[in-house]
Amino acid sequence: MSRYTEANCKLCRREGQKLFLKGERCYSSKCAIERRNYAPGQHGQARKKQSEYGLQLREKQKAKRFYGMQETQFRNLFEKAAKKPGMTGENLLVLLETRLDNVVFRLGFASSRKEARQLVTHGHFTVNGKKADIPSMEVKAGDVIKVKEKSQSSPKFKEVKEMSITVPSWMSVDVEKLEGKVITLPRREDIDTPIAEHLIVELYSK
Ligand code: SF4
Repeated sequence: MSRYTEANCKLCRREGQKLFLKGERCYSSKCAIERRNYAPGQHGQARKKQSEYGLQLREKQKAKRFYGMQETQFRNLFEKAAKKPGMTGENLLVLLETRLDNVVFRLGFASSRKEARQLVTHGHFTVNGKKADIPSMEVKAGDVIKVKEKSQSSPKFKEVKEMSITVPSWMSVDVEKLEGKVITLPRREDIDTPIAEHLIVELYSK
């Protein structure tokens, strides 16, 4: 196992659940959570009682890692969610889900959010026909995300065309055209990421 893989898997072990950071490996028996589901380090197997603050902090870390974000970026997104009407926690999850890198991942064009981020940065996608190479771009209802014509013949996307892809109900995909659409913004019940968003709201409201 490479150092790099180990580092990603340690994040999952720290959170005690799969964060799906390694693409296909995450669905195989090689997944570290399947083999060693306890925190890394010397005292990883010791059972610890967590304080309320500890639980809130872990939940925020988990969400951040799930979506592959840095602290400042995550905090800024939270502030944005807090300014929107409605429930801050739900707004935060919707903002996380509608990041371009996450949408590319959900459309099945990448095997992990990390790969999606890389593909976006390398300029393989358009949104509504325009170049889109910023992973944090907020995708809106009605937006069409497409693999650039020039990129469609690459081995990566040829492979995607062979796949049978199921997408969440708030989006649609045309695998043959390597094109997806955000039909509507997701509602809380459409988001299956195992995050207790109220704990993050509590943490940031201190
Ligand atoms: Fe590693 Fe499993 Fe986490 Fe994937 S889900 S990054 S394989 S521990």
